[in-house]
Amino acid sequence: MNMPASSSNRGRHIAISPPHAEGTPSGWYVTSGPELPLNVLKGDLDCDCLVIGAGWMGLHAARRYAEVRPESSVVLVDAGRIGNNASGRCMGFAIDLAHNPRKHDFVEDVQGNLDELHANLEGNAYLRSAVEEHGVECDWDPQGKYHSAATDHGVADLVSFSNALDRMGQKYRWVEKDEIQSITGSRHYIRALHHPGTILIQPAKYLKNATLALPKNVTVYENTAVKGVQYGSPRHLFETTNGTIRPKKVIICTAGYLTKFGFYANTAIPVYTFASMTRPLTADELTQVGTHNAYGLIPADSFGTTVRRTVDNRLFLRNVYSYANDFLITRDQVMATRKHQQTAFNRRWPGLSKMGFEVSWGGLLTLAQNGGMVFGQLADNVYGAAFCNGTGVSRGTAFGKAIAELAAGQSSPVIEILKRKVPPSRAYPKLITSLGVRFVTGRRFKQAGNEV
Ligand SMILES: Cc1cc2nc3c(=O)[nH]c(=O)nc-3n(C[C@H](O)[C@H](O)[C@H](O)COP(=O)(O)OP(=O)(O)OC[C@H]3O[C@@H](n4cnc5c(N)ncnc54)[C@H](O)[C@@H]3O)c2cc1C
Repeated sequence: MNMPASSSNRGRHIAISPPHAEGTPSGWYVTSGPELPLNVLKGDLDCDCLVIGAGWMGLHAARRYAEVRPESSVVLVDAGRIGNNASGRCMGFAIDLAHNPRKHDFVEDVQGNLDELHANLEGNAYLRSAVEEHGVECDWDPQGKYHSAATDHGVADLVSFSNALDRMGQKYRWVEKDEIQSITGSRHYIRALHHPGTILIQPAKYLKNATLALPKNVTVYENTAVKGVQYGSPRHLFETTNGTIRPKKVIICTAGYLTKFGFYANTAIPVYTFASMTRPLTADELTQVGTHNAYGLIPADSFGTTVRRTVDNRLFLRNVYSYANDFLITRDQVMATRKHQQTAFNRRWPGLSKMGFEVSWGGLLTLAQNGGMVFGQLADNVYGAAFCNGTGVSRGTAFGKAIAELAAGQSSPVIEILKRKVPPSRAYPKLITSLGVRFVTGRRFKQAGNEV
């Protein structure tokens, strides 16, 4: 088992390379309303608990720690703007039964899926409580998702997925050609499977509004990158660009960047995936995109194209996985993948192919060679939750909530499930990993054919 390397970190100074700025903003971010008031850390402060990283994991870890320890001072820092990180760049499916995007038919082992379901349901309940109890506006829509096939091999993948759902006793509904074509206005699709339980959200809106709704004992600093650390007792020392933070306890929720904090070195496989969004469709154009006002389609083949129609009547598509050398993807690389989203768009709505896209962007998925994830205590008063392995909205929320409860000395069934998760294994040397990822993703993309 790959250990977090806790004892060797104590007392030594670790320099941390912060995340690269993204080459383009995401479509969700630019349509998510007013910017949060920007608060950058300047100067030095002490706090009881520092949470680093404000994605699904970190935001919910900060919220939960502050809820269960209302007497504690909690600080949440992020290197960038909240909502413009991978979490805000995602497709906005909060998935109760997470599919495994690395498998052809998404199917995991049954016990793994049941554990996943249990944790993700808690994640979704926590998201729901933000919406219902704290008024977090995010275009919340619990309509479920359509797994949609455009080819015979896609239909075969759906059948295999349905068999796995049967084994788990899950409800679903077959959606035949006429219905899926009427929902989407696209002749591209030939069959679909509707699985309830997924909630569609506008992720950047959620993250920004949930930040505003955090308990009063949380202070948030954005554009505040952590650049160095000395773990110690009774306080750790974190250096940021313009100040230091000395917390008694830290919860690190920095996705693949957790490996820069002295734990699980060389385990993160940084992979980007890409999306493009149209402008709002006109009334005339809307007659060509089906009868549903908003929906979410997952491709039957995991290397196909994911589609959302948003509540403000935009279409957007995600496809292509690409190894991100040193976690970096440039603007040029983002724009180069746009042609694949355009091809996918043209296949689905040839009558609208001239409209093009308003925004294109990419976002980081952290994978581990063995599909492992980080959850738990990493050292004295150091906790971590990271590595989404593809689907991180519900799962990240559950991880964030549970890691805060663990750090606060609590126990729960979800904590026990997550403690059983396999930790990330060491990746092969970088050259081999990057060539391997490029080869596999390139081949799977070609095999996906018209599912793209
Ligand atoms: C295009 C796309 C579509 C996706 N669609 C879906 C979907 O529909 N459903 C789903 O479940 N998942 C989806 N995902 C995956 C999902 O986005 C991720 O699983 C999720 O964002 C991971 O959340 P996180 O909190 O672990 O990490 P992140 O969102 O990456 O947050 C980590 C944060 O840590 C901060 N950080 C890192 N280093 C430092 C430092 N040194 N100092 C300070 N801050 C630091 C970063 O700035 C970042 O904000 C998608 C991903 C992409 C890219």
